[in-house]
Amino acid sequence: MYVLEKAPAKINLSLDVLFKRPDDYHEIEMVMTTIDLADRIELISQNKDCIKIESENRFVPSDERNLAYRAAKLLKDTYGITKGVKIIIEKNIPVAAGLAGGSSDAAATLRGLNRLWSLGLTTKQLADLGAKIGSDVSFCVYNTTALAQGRGEIITEIPAPPACWVVLAKPTQGVSTQSIYQQLSLNESKHPNTNGMIEAIKNNDYSTMCNLLGNVLEPVTVSLHQEVEQIKRQMENSGADAVLMSGSGPTVFALVRQESRARRIYNSLRGFCEEVYVVRMLGYQETLD
Ligand code: ATP
Repeated sequence: MYVLEKAPAKINLSLDVLFKRPDDYHEIEMVMTTIDLADRIELISQNKDCIKIESENRFVPSDERNLAYRAAKLLKDTYGITKGVKIIIEKNIPVAAGLAGGSSDAAATLRGLNRLWSLGLTTKQLADLGAKIGSDVSFCVYNTTALAQGRGEIITEIPAPPACWVVLAKPTQGVSTQSIYQQLSLNESKHPNTNGMIEAIKNNDYSTMCNLLGNVLEPVTVSLHQEVEQIKRQMENSGADAVLMSGSGPTVFALVRQESRARRIYNSLRGFCEEVYVVRMLGYQETLD
């Protein structure tokens, strides 16, 4: 027996950090949505009690460091499951890019094992389990468009954003999320308008959504990685309606209405940047089977 799950990447349309909490986590407010760039997770029943990870991507760990492994282990431990599973990860989302690839794989594993093992858990139960794995996993379990608050685990679903194309470019140098948060100075930061962004999405107002794209972490990452700023400028000069860095970076995305303009931006970045993608904005749930 096996199941397939699609694990889409996410982008932040708005990312704000409100304050540092007594428990040392940051209180955040993020408006997130999914895009049509996804890993493919295949879950295959095993006769033995085990968790095996397989992936052809050399950046994906094949042991307990893998977030998909941790998701399977958490389900097994929480519900006393003695069944085994092989998890095959077809990696299409760039790794350590600010696109929540690992979190999405973990979330897809939770959703898929819920089906494979007929556990009957609700989305909320899976999302609560996901919060124990990482702060983006709860959102990824819902896999729609949402406001994420707290550490990222308090999820309020909102409608899908206006339809558009997304051009993504990942600079070569990776970013450490921890070091970006450490260098963030909240008093000096320009905070995005989270409520305005939610209203724009609810009103299906594309131009206001573009005007309100904002990420409090972007100036910190830009100060460390000049390539981020160069890619942003290149996208703007090639006709992007709006440009923003996703998460703690370093991936930058541009929004456009017309596919032809998305292709123009894509072509302008080829050669300048190794990893460039043109995809659609999603924001609503999809499954493979
Ligand atoms: P976020 O946007 O949630 O901060 P990210 O997109 O920046 O995440 P990931 O692609 O999830 O980052 O990878 C971060 C690290 O997690 C990698 O360096 C990798 O070693 C580890 N990792 C664990 N599981 C996975 C997985 N299934 N896919 C990719 N990376 C994984």
